[in-house]
Amino acid sequence: MKTYISLWPAHAPALPFPRTLAILGSTGSIGVSALAVVAQHPDLFRVAALTGGRNARRLAEQAAAFRPGVLAVLDEAVAKELRLLLPAGYHPEILAGPAAFEAVAAMPGADLVLSAIVGAAGFLPTLAAATAGKRIALANKESLVLGGRLIRNACQASGAVVLPVDSEHNALFQALCGHVGENGSENGNDDEMARLILTASGGPFHGKDAAFLAAVTPAQALKHPNWSMGAKVSIDSATLMNKGLEVIEACHLYGLPPARVDVLVHPQSIVHSLVEYVDGSQLAHLGVPDMRIPIAHSLCYPRRVALAMPRLDLASAASLTFEAPDETLFPCLGLAKAAFAASHSHPVALNAANEVAVELFLQGRITFPDIPRLIEAALARHAALKENCGAAELINADAETRRETLADACNRTAE
Ligand code: NAD
Ligand code: MG
Repeated sequence: MKTYISLWPAHAPALPFPRTLAILGSTGSIGVSALAVVAQHPDLFRVAALTGGRNARRLAEQAAAFRPGVLAVLDEAVAKELRLLLPAGYHPEILAGPAAFEAVAAMPGADLVLSAIVGAAGFLPTLAAATAGKRIALANKESLVLGGRLIRNACQASGAVVLPVDSEHNALFQALCGHVGENGSENGNDDEMARLILTASGGPFHGKDAAFLAAVTPAQALKHPNWSMGAKVSIDSATLMNKGLEVIEACHLYGLPPARVDVLVHPQSIVHSLVEYVDGSQLAHLGVPDMRIPIAHSLCYPRRVALAMPRLDLASAASLTFEAPDETLFPCLGLAKAAFAASHSHPVALNAANEVAVELFLQGRITFPDIPRLIEAALARHAALKENCGAAELINADAETRRETLADACNRTAE
């Protein structure tokens, strides 16, 4: 796995400003932050398309403000609602249904695609953007977990470039610039990079014990100490599955085996990740925990733009602390690493079981410790797909794991 998909390939053409931007998942937490960046720099972007799932009201407000020519939503009912909410005299094309997001990802009128749908639903649209040769600002880490190999291959074939939005991976990208790839090749000189260190806040339950975890509620789990995020990634942060998915994401982005991707718990969320070089130097990226920073970096790269927001003041940040993660109390991190080691398709099962378990936990139907139990069982059931399988087989495995995990959860609660 030697190919970098997020380091700047020598052949990548410059992308002039204003950039034409399609935002997949504009009504979510990342999407809203991205539009806040665009609103601060209206001269740098033309918003070509916005998409939402079911939140017609927020999408209509965004569309009224940014006037894209294309909108997409999950189904016809939401499309109908959306049409009624749009201002008079504004008639964008409105697409509906899951395939609509792939169409937007590949549309000729956008050269920059922000992939910010949550979960496995973001995979096919991201793959479509990669196949169409877009510059992709990637927030949807699940796409790489599901089909990192297919996305890498598609980028290589089309010349698409992925820029990581996820704060840790964006931090790594920033700490790597000018080091890897200096020989002008996409493979770079990765022998200078010793390892990557992803930081993790530890989530809202950092420092708690097993008895505490057994009784936590969704409301407690949703209360992240440092970041404001969508519900799914907030629960993933509480279980440490987020860091597990991010280890896999880092392996795909930077072409390293998991043995060279470490995790450090850093509760202050100021150091966003570090790169260690073979001479022992560690380069870190620091900043306030606000996703507008990595979003603006990836949308404007290589230009840096001013952002109106509070600055990091290290004097008042007091102490920065670091410790190893507790993988016994939070098994999801280890499960993710085990899935990545098991086969290229075990991460599909990991991700699907996790999405089902998170949803059941949010609905109050299972406990917090049930989340890793259901995932572990799904990984044990999963039979590896063949190495060169296509997207359809991955999607089938995803659907099958969802069905089985739901049945498993029903059986356990019936006992
Ligand atoms: P969110 O739940 O706030 O928003 C998700 C967006 O996807 C919404 O626009 C929603 O309408 C849309 N959506 C949901 N289901 C869909 C479906 N089936 N088809 C099409 N669209 C659908 O999520 P978020 O927190 O913004 O996270 C988005 C992605 O970014 C996730 O992959 C997450 O892991 C990643 N990420 C988020 C953060 C953060 O701070 N929120 C940080 C790093 C990475
Ligand atoms: Mg992250």
